[in-house]
Amino acid sequence: MKFPALIGALALTLVAACGGREVTSTASLPVPQLAGVEVTRSGLAKELFGAAGLPAALPAQPFGGYAKGCLAGGVALAETGPTWQAMRLSRNRNWGHPELIDMVQKLSRKVAAQPGTRGIYVGDMSQPRGGPMLTGHRSHQIGLDADIWLMPATRLDLSRAERENLSAVSFRRQKGAFVNERWSRTQHELVKAAAQDPRTSRIFIFPGAKVRMCQDETGDRRWLRKVRPWFGHHYHMHVRLSCPPGASTCIDQDPPPAGDGCADAQQWVNNILNPPPPDPNAPPPQPRRELRMADLPAACQAVLAQ
Ligand SMILES: [Zn+2]
Repeated sequence: MKFPALIGALALTLVAACGGREVTSTASLPVPQLAGVEVTRSGLAKELFGAAGLPAALPAQPFGGYAKGCLAGGVALAETGPTWQAMRLSRNRNWGHPELIDMVQKLSRKVAAQPGTRGIYVGDMSQPRGGPMLTGHRSHQIGLDADIWLMPATRLDLSRAERENLSAVSFRRQKGAFVNERWSRTQHELVKAAAQDPRTSRIFIFPGAKVRMCQDETGDRRWLRKVRPWFGHHYHMHVRLSCPPGASTCIDQDPPPAGDGCADAQQWVNNILNPPPPDPNAPPPQPRRELRMADLPAACQAVLAQ
């Protein structure tokens, strides 16, 4: 259940109570209350960030890494634009760093210029203050990740209800080893356009799609380096931007290995088709511990409190 309006009102009260000033140290802050939940260092971060209905009124700044951080000064992607619609609005995840908003809008204009599409459908980005989410996604925490549907937008007048219920279309077959009959040059150009934005550091998509694009690309192949084979990601691609210039509190990932990565993608496909036998010496998978506020950069407490 969600009470975005109520939470939004509480967040506004907090901003007013703090005078909207910029907080750089959490040492002297009183323990703030957010939607009736105490922001303590032992608090489960996903519950606190999941309850924040509005961004922190601070300059835009990512804190920490893609899977362990938060976002100050988040900006909303408009629910509907001339060349995009944000989907699943009830999740309130159409927020990001201004660079991500700009990147998504620019991508949507490029896609809309192609025949047979009017732009893009945008899935989850970040919560208003980033941070871990109550459901789904381990990353998407610092406002620099966006899921873009592979199915191009054919209508841009979808109602809120339609945007909750419209099913995304899968583009894979054989567990992601190959693309299916729906895949066309439209998807190739969508991924390529996203990868060619200099702000993009990586794009995650299922292995069969990467191999197909490796086969089909006859021109410049440098963009393929950023396209990384990954599990899932057959309804949408996941676009990740590098830390913006000067964002000293943002932790970048190492760049992808040199080269187009096509042989690596083919290896993923081979492993899907002929799974290697399990390694008897591999340690058993450890259950993932839930992130607590103390796991995140200290500034994230101020981001919540603001
Ligand atoms: Zn994603």
